[in-house]
Parts: sequence; C-alpha cells; structure tokens
Amino acid sequence: MDAPVSSVLIVGAGPVGAVCALALQQQGVAARVLEATPEDARADTRTLALAHGSRLILDRLGVWEKLADVTPITRIHISQRGALGVTRLSAAELDVPALGYVLPYAALTAALKQALREANLAVEYGVTVDRIESTAAAATLHTADGRLLSAPLVAVADGGRGEDAPRPRFERNYDQMAVVCDVQTELPHASQAFERFTPEGPAALLPKGDRYALVWTARNADAQRIAALPDGEFLAALQRHFGGRQGLFLHASPRKTFPLRLAYTGSQAAERVVRIGNAAQTLHPVAGQGFNIGLRDAWELADLCGDSPASEIGGAAMLAAYARGRRSDVLGGLGFTDFLVRTFSNDFAPLRHARGLGLLALEALPPLKTFVARRMMFGARG
Ligand SMILES: Cc1cc2nc3c(=O)[nH]c(=O)nc-3n(C[C@H](O)[C@H](O)[C@H](O)COP(=O)(O)OP(=O)(O)OC[C@H]3O[C@@H](n4cnc5c(N)ncnc54)[C@H](O)[C@@H]3O)c2cc1C
Repeated sequence: MDAPVSSVLIVGAGPVGAVCALALQQQGVAARVLEATPEDARADTRTLALAHGSRLILDRLGVWEKLADVTPITRIHISQRGALGVTRLSAAELDVPALGYVLPYAALTAALKQALREANLAVEYGVTVDRIESTAAAATLHTADGRLLSAPLVAVADGGRGEDAPRPRFERNYDQMAVVCDVQTELPHASQAFERFTPEGPAALLPKGDRYALVWTARNADAQRIAALPDGEFLAALQRHFGGRQGLFLHASPRKTFPLRLAYTGSQAAERVVRIGNAAQTLHPVAGQGFNIGLRDAWELADLCGDSPASEIGGAAMLAAYARGRRSDVLGGLGFTDFLVRTFSNDFAPLRHARGLGLLALEALPPLKTFVARRMMFGARG
C-alpha cells in the first residue's frame, strides 16, 4: 500500500468510526481515532440487525471473518395484529445467502477493535473530545486531557452524544420506547425473523443464537411498567401481544429500555467537519436501517477521500459532494422508517384496512417485494 497521503481525525470508535478508519486505511488515507471509553470497556447489550450490504462492507475490510455469534436471517414474516395481511420475504427468492444477520453490538465492537489493532491504526482509548473548532484550513479537536489536535478533516462518529452537537434539522418524538431482551420460544426460530405491527408500535423477534432478540416497542407511559413486570407476567403479556406463531414464550432475560426518536442533523456541521453514523441521523429501529446507513456513511466517506487529491480532503467541495452523494440513501431510509412507524402505530380503521391491503399487495407482487427487500439490504442503491 502507498504511504498515507493525508490525515483524518475520527471522534468515536463505535462501529461507524472504526469502519471509517479501516476503510480510510484501505484507501491509503491515514486516520487517527479518539474514543472516550477505555479499551477494555464492556460494550452494552444491544443487538444489531446487519443488512446483507453491511456484511459485504465488513467482508471487504476483513472484519466479517473475525465475527463471532452471528445468526443469519433467511426469512422475515411481516404482519399486523388483529387485521389481515401478511408478507413473507425470503433469501432464497432474492438469491442471497441471507436477508440480514443478527449479532450482539459487543461482538461487532470486539471484532472491530481486533481489526484496528491488527491494522496498526492509531486509536487512543479513554480520550474524550470536548470541543471542535474549525477554520477554512483545518479543524482542531480539544480533548478533555488538554490537548489540541488538528487535521484537514474531522469525522464525528460519536453517536450524536457530543456536548456541542448541533440541533437536529428535523426531529420527531414518537412517544415510543423499546423494551429489549432475549427470549426463548417453544418452537425453534429456523432463522426466521418476525416483524409484527401493533397500534402501540412494532414488535420484532430476531433470531439470535438459539433464542430470539426481542425489540418490543411500547408507548412511553407503558414501557417501564412492561419492562419491570416479573418474568411470568412479562412472558404472558408478550404472548398476548405477539400471538402464538412461535408457540409459547418460555424464558426472558432481564429487560432494558431505550428511547426511540428520529433526529436528522445531516453530515455538514462546520468547515472541515463531517458527521457520520448516528451523529448525523438517529432512526427508529423498526426496519433495522440506522446502523446500516451509518456503515454506508463511513464507507462512502472513505471512498471519496481515497478518490480526492490530498489537498482537497476536507475542503468545502469534497464535503458538499459527500452530502450530495449520501442524500438519497439517508433521506430515503429516514422517510421509509418514519412512514412505517406512523402508518402502522395506530388503530384508525381505514388505515388498518389499507395497511392490510398493502401487505397483501406486497405478498402478491414479487417485483414490489424484491424492490422493498433490496432497499432494506443495500439502501437507495439497492
Ligand atoms: C438499544 C438499541 C438497539 C439498536 N438496534 C439496532 C438494530 O437492530 N439495527 C440497526 O441497524 N441499528 C440499531 N440501533 C442503532 C445502532 O446502535 C446505531 O445506529 C449504531 O450503534 C451507531 O453507530 P455509531 O458508531 O454511529 O455510534 P455509537 O455506536 O453510539 O458509537 C459512538 C462512539 O463514540 C464514542 N464517543 C461519544 N462521544 C465521544 C467523545 N466526545 N469523544 C470521544 N469518543 C466519543 C462512544 O463512546 C462510542 O464508542 C440500535 C440502537 C440502540 C440504542
């Protein structure tokens, strides 16, 4: 590989920041990463649904082969509670090995850490970035330990948690929270995922090892109460909510909740600064789009840096080209997710019938089904 030609500072070594650093290195562009948590910090217990297109990115970076605990999704069953209409998506119909993959966030971050180490990438753990200043010539990071670091481009991949994050350009509060845990069902999952829409919000069962990862969306007022139910009552409530397609719910791990919202900040914040991943857009997890869009942000930013002369990296023209290139994928994913949440999360009878017809149409029209499935797997370029 040629000697690195430029330098990009990345704030955050979450999945998006780490993928960006690895992809930049593949492009011959030097990257340095600052991560607030210590190297041996335990990642949280969230579960990620990775689209097939994200697997291809991780494959090209040599990360996929390092991943443990990956469960393929070969079929998805989509329905709505108390009304007609079912759609089934299958990997075989689309001629791909899997529609997506389920894995613990911790497994992905562990594999990425290993890849960063093996690639000898400069990653400083336990360093928090407090503030970013920028001019037309460079962006400068102020770290909590009192250092100033400058580069032609700073990529903010802090998950949207930075103190000085700009206000989102568009926000929607769905009055919904996700209750998440692992559950065991009477029937084995056979790599099938379920997405069930209910007036309170969607519920998803994602095959994970020999269990399911449950993402149960509930109204804010109900979510904490549901999460706090004793195991037996929780399983009974889930059975009523989800129905008997997988037989009885037998066991549930401790529950956690997290708030759900849509926040679109966009990639452009200041000169020589670009926001990627959750720092640029936070989505409802209903269609498993947020993380996958973030990975494509990282991949395409690295691609553009690799294609740009060193003197243009981080310049206004490059950042505008990046924003233009990402617009349809990001806004398409936001719009699709928002449409699903708002159309399905109500009990308005005419809409309920229209949704049923929509699901039936999707089932009956293979080209439409292929379009939707490819969009979920690959984004706007699907
Ligand atoms: C419970 C839950 C379930 C989800 N399920 C799914 C799913 O099924 N499918 C899906 O596609 N998406 C899902 N998502 C969304 C997904 O987790 C995010 O899209 C993804 O983690 C975003 O990656 P990221 O690297 O942008 O941000 P993060 O994963 O949040 O990583 C940001 C990193 O930046 C570091 N950092 C923050 N501030 C600073 C700072 N000031 N200085 C230095 N470092 C800093 C943090 O420590 C962290 O390591 C879920 C989200 C949640 C909360």
